[in-house]
This record gives sequence, C-alpha cells and structure tokens, in this order.
Amino acid sequence: MPGLLAQSAALHRHLCPRQVLGARMGLLAGQHLALSFPRTDKRVLVFVETDGCFADGVAVASGCWLGRRTMRLVDHGKVAATFVDTRTAQAVRVAPHPDLRARVQAARPEGQKRWDAYMAAYQTWPDEALFRVQPVTLTVDLAALISVAGKRAVCGRCGEEIVNEREVRAGGAVRCRACAGDTYWAPWGRAPLNCPRRPRAGATLRGVSPQPRPRPDPFP
Ligand SMILES: [Zn+2]
Ligand SMILES: [Zn+2]
Repeated sequence: MPGLLAQSAALHRHLCPRQVLGARMGLLAGQHLALSFPRTDKRVLVFVETDGCFADGVAVASGCWLGRRTMRLVDHGKVAATFVDTRTAQAVRVAPHPDLRARVQAARPEGQKRWDAYMAAYQTWPDEALFRVQPVTLTVDLAALISVAGKRAVCGRCGEEIVNEREVRAGGAVRCRACAGDTYWAPWGRAPLNCPRRPRAGATLRGVSPQPRPRPDPFP
C-alpha cells in the first residue's frame, strides 16, 4: 500500500484522500476476485464512476489504465468502481459506505483538520469500515466493449477512421457515432440553439469562419 500511494502521488503531484480510497478499493476488489493486483495483463476491466484523483488510485492499485483499454469512465460522479474478471465475467462493485464521511468527522480528534482526518482514516481503518462490496452482473456486452484488436472502419460521411467496432451501420451505410447524430460537438458557429456554451454572436476563432450548415444526411 505505501508503495502504491507513492506511485499514485508521483503521478498526481500530491497525495489526497480520494487517491487513497481508489487504491484501497482496487486492492480490495483484487481480494474479492481472488486475483493478484496490480494486473500486468488485460484480464481485469474496471469501470470507474468518476474521474479525478480517485481514478489514479484505482489505476495504480489495479493495474488497469485508460491507455491499456482496461479502464473505462462511466461518469456518474460517484467515488465507486466495478471490477470485472473478463475471463469469468465475475464482477464486484466497490463503494464507500454512504455514512463514511460522517463517521470520519465524528471520530475526528479535536483540532485535527478535516482533510487530515480523511487521510488518516482512509489509510488506517479496516476495509469493512470503509467500503461495501457488492457482487454484480454487467448489463453491457463485455465482448462488444472489448472488441477485437485491428478492427477498422471508415465513416462514409466524414471519412475518419473508426476502431474497436464503434461505427454505426444501417442500410449498408457506415457512420461514426458523431455523424450518426450522437455527438458532443458542432462545427464552429453552428452550435444548436439549445447549446449551453454557444459562442457569442460575432465571436471569431482565429483563421476560421463559421461553416455553412452541412447538407442533410439521410442517415438513418
Ligand atoms: Zn488529488
Ligand atoms: Zn463521421
């Protein structure tokens, strides 16, 4: 544990309570799945339910990283994670007890800062005092999520390459998700009226003029 925290802190340029929670959740999940952590292979896939400090702690303890395709962000804004043994489909979700913060504060010696109290409790309290562990079944298609290395497609509209079978196919047409309508961006100057961050009228982006509206796509 101290080695893992040092690694996480180095990555992160500081050590903080959420990294400690993440690292301990990773180790605890390894015990429940009866697998040695941190993994050096791709056997375990972890779904972290928020990004930030916590995710670095989880990564260091589990050996699962976004860059290795063994960590995925499901952004529910929660300090919680589900660890899946992809060989057996066995999975556990680990989360702090909902009353953990309150209990740490109640046990805080007088004069101790809140932050220090969290750091101390998260490093020293036993697992049972910190977390609940729930065996779960995934409701997403694990094989589809992992896909197969080397799969490539080209979007018939924007021409960009799509890997990991993330394309959308309908009636013989191939589209990337953005071109199929599932997008988080719009061309400069063409944000929809309901976009919360629409550029102010008259705003310009260096060297870029607003693009004309694209021709309507028949898809789908
Ligand atoms: Zn932090
Ligand atoms: Zn496209």
